[in-house]
Amino acid sequence: MRLCRFDDNRLGIVDGESVRDVTSALDVLPHVRYPLPKHDPLIANLPQVLARARAIAPSAPALPLAGRRLLSPVASPGKLIAAPVNYQTHLDEVRADKALHQNTVAHTVTIQTAGLFLKASSSLVGPGEGVIIRKPDRRTDHEVELCVVIGKTASHVSKAEALEYVAGYTIGLDITIRGTEDRSFRKSVDTHSVLGPWLVTADDIPNPGDLDLEIAVNGEQRQTSNTSRLILGVPELIELASSFYTLYPGDVIFTGTPEGVSPIEAGDEIVATIERIGTMRVRVRAAEDAAIAEAGVAAASRMT
Ligand code: MN
Repeated sequence: MRLCRFDDNRLGIVDGESVRDVTSALDVLPHVRYPLPKHDPLIANLPQVLARARAIAPSAPALPLAGRRLLSPVASPGKLIAAPVNYQTHLDEVRADKALHQNTVAHTVTIQTAGLFLKASSSLVGPGEGVIIRKPDRRTDHEVELCVVIGKTASHVSKAEALEYVAGYTIGLDITIRGTEDRSFRKSVDTHSVLGPWLVTADDIPNPGDLDLEIAVNGEQRQTSNTSRLILGVPELIELASSFYTLYPGDVIFTGTPEGVSPIEAGDEIVATIERIGTMRVRVRAAEDAAIAEAGVAAASRMT
């Protein structure tokens, strides 16, 4: 099943070129009080939400998918975990290009040495919100990645059992400012974590280790690979991450990007595709243009 969030925090089931608005399925969620839980409430209660959504979908309004503003399928993840240099071909290109490694040893070591890193959850947006270039004087790159959404609390999980803890999969963009700083700093900029276009539940992807992925910018293909080339696959990443910290429902793992990273700039259109998940389109905007657009939306909503 393909579950999306869209427009004004609506919940939808994607069916071909249309989306069934099943927002009322969110009524099954327990009321949350302060202090907030460490998990994402929708993902923590996904079986109940899906059961309700399935029940009401046949009579729910069907809207054209085109024109919907797609949001991140996970609204409130506790943490965004990310794998650095998890394709050998990407490590090779980083080591060969000073613009990528910046003479910084920490950027050129293997994932076994580097471990995982975290991206700020405040950097998360959906494809309909787009990427805003915050540092136009710095090189900002696209990285397309298979993303794993954790479905059950996981601590010290073995790779043999790891896939039982997955709620589903989505496409991620790990947008990255190149430079000497720590990864978590350069990759936590507002709008620099994009998830979408929807969550594909794990039952639809029994093997995340053989999925084609690709990304094009302005119609030009930049990255293309297959998740079979991951150094640490999805089960190994869950094993490694859960050996250091507890994973909660809604936590997201960015599994790493293949070779072909390259700069993006305001005005670009990114199209990212992963087999069995789908395709998402993401606009790149300048901060000034984004501010003007937001002001326009705010003004329009005051007039209605
Ligand atoms: Mn990455």
